[in-house]
Amino acid sequence: MAGLPYIVGNWKMNGTRAMLNEARAMDRAAGRFPKVQVAVAPPATLLWRTREAVELIGVGGQDCHAKDSGAYTGDISATMLKDAGADFTITGHSERRTLHGETDADVKAKSESALAAGLSVILCVGETEAERDAGRAVDVVSGQLEGSCPTADGAAEKLSIAYEPVWAIGTGRVPSIDDVAAMHAAIRERLVAIYGAAGAEVRILYGGSVKADNAAELLAVPEVGGALVGGASLTAESFLAIVGAAASLNAD
Ligand code: PEP
Repeated sequence: MAGLPYIVGNWKMNGTRAMLNEARAMDRAAGRFPKVQVAVAPPATLLWRTREAVELIGVGGQDCHAKDSGAYTGDISATMLKDAGADFTITGHSERRTLHGETDADVKAKSESALAAGLSVILCVGETEAERDAGRAVDVVSGQLEGSCPTADGAAEKLSIAYEPVWAIGTGRVPSIDDVAAMHAAIRERLVAIYGAAGAEVRILYGGSVKADNAAELLAVPEVGGALVGGASLTAESFLAIVGAAASLNAD
């Protein structure tokens, strides 16, 4: 798997201008961790201001519309994210899939639109608790990858996958290390089936209740190339503890 460990904060619908102080603190500290790639996805209202407030860390959107422009009240296109200073966007987050009814086809279209606009993509997949209990977790996630991975030329080079079990998001619960390892291996296999050799280089992040006290263990799992962090990315202190854990694992 290519690249530095990638630690990305997803602020969700949190943050007003006061939050820029956290972004500045994250950015200042990122200089101490040159072997970790750090980024945040603030709410769209803070995207441009965050871009202007930071120098070292990446800045991205949390979602985009599949179309470039048009009569879609309240939506934001990938081109607009790019124009507002985004480097990447998240697509297919479980909160979008569940609360906004996004299908795999929607996520694929959004991801392709983002790539066409010059953004990188962090595409989220993950099973519900019922699906895991039914022994269907790998099948569900494989199906999501088949249905939502962008297939435009060169897509794999600008893609990361975030494996986020729905039941682990915001709950304080995490899968066992063995389950994380098994799922990341299955995702790798599926990415190689979809993209060929390029699929072996796509970073696979883990997301779901990553905190300072479990980050090192999760990030040490084979095929875990970083973390997508929700709640613990809302303060520089808790986020940087996770960045520090990634740096310690990637020390030489
Ligand atoms: C997320 O929503 O992407 C996430 C991982 O949230 P949390 O870290 O709060 O579980």
